[in-house]
Amino acid sequence: MIQPVQERVMGSQYCSYRVGGPLDEPYVPKTLDESIEILSLARERGCPLTVIGGGANTIIASQGIRGITFLCKRLMFVEQVGELTFKIGAGMPLARVAKLAQDHHATGAEFMIGVPGTLGGAISMNAGAMGQETAGIIDQAIVYNLETGEIEAWPHEQLMFSYRKSVINPKKMVVLGAQVTFRSGEPQAITELIQKSLSFRQKHHPKEPNGGSVFKNPLPDKPSGLLLDQLGAKGWREGGAMVSPLHANFIVNVEHATSTDILKLMLRMKHAVKAEFGLDVFPENRFLGDATEEEKSIWEELTGHVWNN
Ligand SMILES: Cc1cc2nc3c(=O)[nH]c(=O)nc-3n(C[C@H](O)[C@H](O)[C@H](O)COP(=O)(O)OP(=O)(O)OC[C@H]3O[C@@H](n4cnc5c(N)ncnc54)[C@H](O)[C@@H]3O)c2cc1C
Repeated sequence: MIQPVQERVMGSQYCSYRVGGPLDEPYVPKTLDESIEILSLARERGCPLTVIGGGANTIIASQGIRGITFLCKRLMFVEQVGELTFKIGAGMPLARVAKLAQDHHATGAEFMIGVPGTLGGAISMNAGAMGQETAGIIDQAIVYNLETGEIEAWPHEQLMFSYRKSVINPKKMVVLGAQVTFRSGEPQAITELIQKSLSFRQKHHPKEPNGGSVFKNPLPDKPSGLLLDQLGAKGWREGGAMVSPLHANFIVNVEHATSTDILKLMLRMKHAVKAEFGLDVFPENRFLGDATEEEKSIWEELTGHVWNN
């Protein structure tokens, strides 16, 4: 029987913003069997369940997370099932997926080299960059259905990928792994794309703790970063959170930021874009955990949805 992690675990250890309070009952499964055991337990108890991959797109509440937290990071199997087809665990770091493809002279995953996080999180978010996205390599996701308690294979079409979105709702289904197929590529072109991605990030992404792009782009030709830059948002601050001086769509944790600091800063950014350009921007970041009443109401304003975490 798998046990929760015994020592005190803080959400900040699993969140690239380095925010997040205590996790009541964290589990770190390494195998599919352990994962099923934990998810069945959550189902039987009917207790809150929170799923976290690399925490690279997630703000974790400073009050922490109640109930079971399923931390996917160690679920890292790889099995080759065809020439360029692999079954990969949900916890596999994206950089390792990129390397796996490169080692097989295959294309489609180069963008993953510089994107922090796990394969499961990338499927949920349909992460992408440089004209590639996660959807491009996914044949099927292997999910645990929390409504039925069954393991199911969801084919590509059923995952309904769109811009930074898929049908995966971690309250209803947890990605345990995926079958991916890369395309045969030209080794030099693959290496060049990987190098391009790494050097772009080196130059344009902040070094301080952050959660990547805060807002999705409201329109393909109107990137949120550009709009916010034009507003002079770089350097805006709320408590310990600041809009990165390097990239106006990134918030960085410069001085013990709380989840509330980040959310308040996001709201200021959203209001400013609306006032100046008449455009609504919506969060790319997710917000998980035990929100305060103030945080719930800010999140509702940011997303336009009722808080239902
Ligand atoms: C410096 C930096 C640069 C970034 N650059 C990019 C970029 O270029 N392109 C891009 O798209 N993103 C980018 N991101 C954001 C982030 O890396 C991606 O969204 C990534 O896919 C998140 O993966 P994760 O495992 O960390 O997800 P998490 O943050 O852990 O989770 C994200 C969401 O997915 C859910 N989830 C996680 N794992 C599972 C699972 N196994 N089953 C079901 N639901 C799950 C979570 O509950 C949460 O709702 C960047 C982030 C940083 C910090």
